[in-house]
Amino acid sequence: MSARRVVIAGGGVAALEAMLALRRMAEDRVEILLISPERSFAYRPLAVAEPFDLGAERRFDLAEIAADAAAELVEDGVTAVDGASRRVQMASGASLDYEDLVIAFGARHRAPLPEALTFWVPGWRDRMADLLKDVEGGWVRSVAFAIPVGCGWPLPLYELALLTSSHLEGEGVEGVELMLVTPEAAPLELFGSRASEAVGELLAHRGLGLFTGSYPSAYRGGELSLSPAGRLRVERVVTLPRIEGREIKGLPTGMHGFIPVDEYGRVPGLEGVYAAGDATTVPIKQGGLAAQLADVVASQIARDAGAAVEVEPFRPVLRGMLLTGERPRFLRTDFGAGAAEESMAAEHALWWPASKIAGRHLAPYLATLTSAEPVPAAPAERASIPVEIEVDAAPITSVSR
Ligand SMILES: Cc1cc2nc3c(=O)[nH]c(=O)nc-3n(C[C@H](O)[C@H](O)[C@H](O)COP(=O)(O)OP(=O)(O)OC[C@H]3O[C@@H](n4cnc5c(N)ncnc54)[C@H](O)[C@@H]3O)c2cc1C
Repeated sequence: MSARRVVIAGGGVAALEAMLALRRMAEDRVEILLISPERSFAYRPLAVAEPFDLGAERRFDLAEIAADAAAELVEDGVTAVDGASRRVQMASGASLDYEDLVIAFGARHRAPLPEALTFWVPGWRDRMADLLKDVEGGWVRSVAFAIPVGCGWPLPLYELALLTSSHLEGEGVEGVELMLVTPEAAPLELFGSRASEAVGELLAHRGLGLFTGSYPSAYRGGELSLSPAGRLRVERVVTLPRIEGREIKGLPTGMHGFIPVDEYGRVPGLEGVYAAGDATTVPIKQGGLAAQLADVVASQIARDAGAAVEVEPFRPVLRGMLLTGERPRFLRTDFGAGAAEESMAAEHALWWPASKIAGRHLAPYLATLTSAEPVPAAPAERASIPVEIEVDAAPITSVSR
């Protein structure tokens, strides 16, 4: 029997998790082609630590990762999908047939406030370094970290605020007003009440002012306008990008250009087409959730290819490691827990490997390549603390192509 042809569009978290999971579950029942316009995989979570010399974004060679999963890397970008003939069109003019297609090409990032410093848009590192110098030199005495509506993942701005406060304390700089502005009703409320309270306590302990229920609508001449109401006089504003979907011919789009999916990652109206990650209408744009949906998608394709695999719907569990400048905090909530909300915050790892992007297959795979991030040491007696050990770090060796 010939192998089922699976095309994965993307070279990020969702694409790689889908590829690794599929190879593990379907073994040699599938042929995998990975289409990515970039040659490297960007592991971004430690970008927040760069201005403080505490970590850096890492890049991994995509061709090597694809080869480890016995997949083929096609350096190109998807420009259109023809669902009727099961074919993708690419920027180079070439096209590829598929039996299953996984859309995992992420989202676009846009700066929301022209005069503010937007994390993660080109040039942000230099601007953040200049901001720190200005604060250390006493030229800037107030900074607001303002979360816009539509950023998809607010945690990095909490990290920037906490890391800034810890850095200034370390440099002996006093009397600087730092504040956090968020449309959320409580800090990092998406992690549930217990975790949110723990983060609130941490912000208060660091003396960070907190403005909830407000988002920045404009910043001009040192005045930050808030919506639905209010103004703040503040010398500098740091914000996050808004994210938007990439509209591709032949794919349905929902609000802001994101691709609608059901709880199995299926794209409605297109047989054999799935999507996972930031490209989808899943409202939280986070690597761990991207990986979880990618696993659901991979399990269906593996089953359709003939593997004995159980398919469960997407039941998101949110895991976030918050960098604080001291010990990181591990935050977790289970969205499927319903009324019995399961919200946790801890100073020890709640999952393993204790990585910032908790992908079942990707996290242990990256850990075998090199240390992607400064991971806290493994607990000596794992059984004594509630670590969720849910990954299988065995290397993929069963298939050679
Ligand atoms: C600075 C920063 C820090 C973050 N920190 C964390 C964290 O600590 N923990 C966490 O879980 N999440 C974190 N996130 C969010 C996380 O990175 C994203 O949610 C995750 O990367 C989404 O995965 P994805 O595969 O959907 O998209 P991406 O990882 O963005 O990958 C998209 C891929 O698609 C490719 N592509 C683009 N266009 C095309 C095309 N036309 N055809 C084919 N391929 C295409 C791109 O080159 C890229 O390889 C962070 C995000 C940022 C920006």
